[in-house]
Amino acid sequence: MIRELDRPLPEHRTPAEQVIRDLVSDVKRGLVASAGPRYFGFVVGGATPASLMADWLTSAWDQNAQVYATSPAAAAAEVIAARWIVELLGLPVHSSVGFVTGCQMANFTALASGRNAVLERAGWDVDSRGLFGAEPITVFMSECGHATVRSALHMMGVGSAQIREIPSDAQGRMQLSALEAEIRRASGQPMILSVQAGNVNSGAFEPIEAVADLVREENAWLHVDGAFGLWAAVSPELNGHLKGMERADSWAADAHKWLNVPYDSGIVIVKNPVQHRSLKTSRCAYAGEESEGRRDGSSWAPENSRRARAFVVYAVLRELGRAGVQDIVERCCMLARCFARGVTQIPGAQVLNDVVLNQVLVRLGSTTANGADALHRAVAARLQAEGRCWLGTTTWRGHSALRVSICNWMTTEDDIALVLESLACAIRETTDGSACRDG
Ligand SMILES: *Cc1c(COP(=O)(O)O)cnc(C)c1O
Repeated sequence: MIRELDRPLPEHRTPAEQVIRDLVSDVKRGLVASAGPRYFGFVVGGATPASLMADWLTSAWDQNAQVYATSPAAAAAEVIAARWIVELLGLPVHSSVGFVTGCQMANFTALASGRNAVLERAGWDVDSRGLFGAEPITVFMSECGHATVRSALHMMGVGSAQIREIPSDAQGRMQLSALEAEIRRASGQPMILSVQAGNVNSGAFEPIEAVADLVREENAWLHVDGAFGLWAAVSPELNGHLKGMERADSWAADAHKWLNVPYDSGIVIVKNPVQHRSLKTSRCAYAGEESEGRRDGSSWAPENSRRARAFVVYAVLRELGRAGVQDIVERCCMLARCFARGVTQIPGAQVLNDVVLNQVLVRLGSTTANGADALHRAVAARLQAEGRCWLGTTTWRGHSALRVSICNWMTTEDDIALVLESLACAIRETTDGSACRDG
């Protein structure tokens, strides 16, 4: 791919038409069909028609969503999209919302607000005194928590020595008894708890309500990393997994995963807007005043000049409505169960996780066999090369596995049938070398 694009730095102009024509032909071979219905890698999602078109317009309009003055339209889209998101997820109505690049930055924004809040309660004003000399904060999270939570903590001044990784159960949820013991030990100190709603491998939810009960008496900030799992709140079938979520102080989600909008689009929600706002107290002199009805989007996000990504969130929510979001979430979960049932019919394959959401982990061969890693990698590589579907590998609780994530609005039962057939063939072809079908 580098060779395709590699030219000496152009000294002179090239006509736009030619630039674009060449760009399309040069990158073609390296594009991944991750917007399509049979891409099951990572946790990705596609783009609905309205979200894609709103995204094109966002680029064409080229608005700076920094402050009200730079784009009243972008500011208004943020106001309404923020209200819709809070209402859709059933969160406390006065919560503030920031539109960020993805869940990494949503986690960062939320956890940094939490840092300011717990230190303030401990008598330390971060805004004037910074972090140097402040009482250390202890952070509790599952050993299976998302890497971006650790990155967020490191970026905001919390080191590994201050992070207590709680041992997890077979589904990757932190064990409450272990958490309770750790909290007792740190009692009285400022603490942050990061709870996961939707594990990237198993889809499992950590028990928010029980964790909230454990820290009721503490100077604690409770954050929910729900990059994709938070959308389960729209489903009466699934929202039991999020019981007590409104008791948290902050929530992070992605729109570019399960809400099916183009990259890059993440959402941070903080229950107390004053604490959220504490992150950005400096203003550009030329920005004008933020006031009621004149929202400055950059007050609620780390960036200053920003893409007007709320147009897209507004568009997708208008397009789908509550029922449409619920339908995508429930259908993907139904398809995950359907895939898992199919896997049990494939000789030499087994499902490793409780399929509670849209994630399925598949183990090939016996759990003790040598060469298990190579087998999983070979089967995934065969499927990827064949190009009918895409799934990747992972390591789950010390075992290699294939990993399937279903979060595209277009995926159907036929797609699942096709991936099951391809998987069965790829396993046979990899393990005994027999050709399984033609073409
Ligand atoms: C994807 C994911 C993230 C990171 O989100 P980005 O959009 O990649 O920044 C964080 N937490 C969880 C649980 C995720 O699934």
